[in-house]
Amino acid sequence: MRYLLLILLASQGLTACSPAPQEHRDTLYVFGTLVEVTQWGVNDTEAAKTLKSIETDLNFMHEAYHAWKPGSLGRVNSLLSTTSRFTANTSLLDLIAESKDLSHKSDGLFNPAIGKLIGLWGFHQDEMPLGPPPTLIAISTLLDKHPSMADIRIDGFYMQSRNPAVQLDLGAIAKGYALDKITEGLATEGRSNLIINAGGNLKVLGTHGDRPWRIAIRHPRNNGVLAALDTQSGEAVVTSGDYERFFDYRGKRYHHIIDPRSGYPSTGTMSVTVVDKNGALADAASTALFIAGAKDWQRIARQMGVTQVLLMSSDGTVYVTPALKDRLTFTTPPARLIVSATE
Ligand code: ADP
Ligand code: MG
Repeated sequence: MRYLLLILLASQGLTACSPAPQEHRDTLYVFGTLVEVTQWGVNDTEAAKTLKSIETDLNFMHEAYHAWKPGSLGRVNSLLSTTSRFTANTSLLDLIAESKDLSHKSDGLFNPAIGKLIGLWGFHQDEMPLGPPPTLIAISTLLDKHPSMADIRIDGFYMQSRNPAVQLDLGAIAKGYALDKITEGLATEGRSNLIINAGGNLKVLGTHGDRPWRIAIRHPRNNGVLAALDTQSGEAVVTSGDYERFFDYRGKRYHHIIDPRSGYPSTGTMSVTVVDKNGALADAASTALFIAGAKDWQRIARQMGVTQVLLMSSDGTVYVTPALKDRLTFTTPPARLIVSATE
């Protein structure tokens, strides 16, 4: 089981402490990750009801969006490979349409059509792969088929791929999207003042009593906190890191964020955090900007429409947009901090 990426700080200051009396904190294991739900100002019965509904929805979406277990996406993937037109499951249409748009805006760096490649690297299993990495020939055979989201056509309820090599893996967007839907539903039912943290994908509703929910962004290497952030209601804070799913083979780290241009795990970045009200966008952008790296992240962020970004490159340099920097309290002062706007 992997660590929670973003550590929720229960109280003022930077030391997590035992929950306040008005606070309910629970941990679920769904969506292949630890999900921490913290609620403020509700009684035990209300807290249990909200927790149950979050768990039910997460389980449903996990089943629908899962890349390798049987489910709705499995059906879509086998039909996409036929290149014939088919009726897609409604729970997936909107997410796939949004993924197409975001893939285009990211210049294809966020490319959920490379499901076969991610499977080839061994990440289509619950356990961490042990290696060895795939052969260059196996990687180039898949890359030569150029699977792209542009190959998919959506027409009402119908979907079709013109490229049989397209296999969807929505792992870089599904959690952000799921948390958006769940918190929208909870807000409609009048439930507020909670925070859901699904292994690095975090979404906030309301406040923690008379102060905002304060969260911590994990340092990608020392297991501690890099910076703290006071969140606003409705915001998502999403982090992609090279420490989440990886294997070491002959002294080299191979992680789960694959550069679609090379077919290999992306190099040059350790972690990216994106803050936005749209959690699906923040999730897809965190993956794309990770791959874009120090050289290209500003352009891709601009194209995708995100303004609050923090990127730590492999040499430890922290790049941050002014919009996010003004809100952060750094606990571990970065050796080098570069503030740069995306506009
Ligand atoms: P996590 O899901 O661990 O929070 P990310 O949001 O960065 O991290 O998503 C990584 C996952 O997305 C991988 O496990 C894989 O399933 C998928 N993926 C890897 N590379 C890409 C890519 N270039 N484009 C789209 N999805 C990717
Ligand atoms: Mg992502």
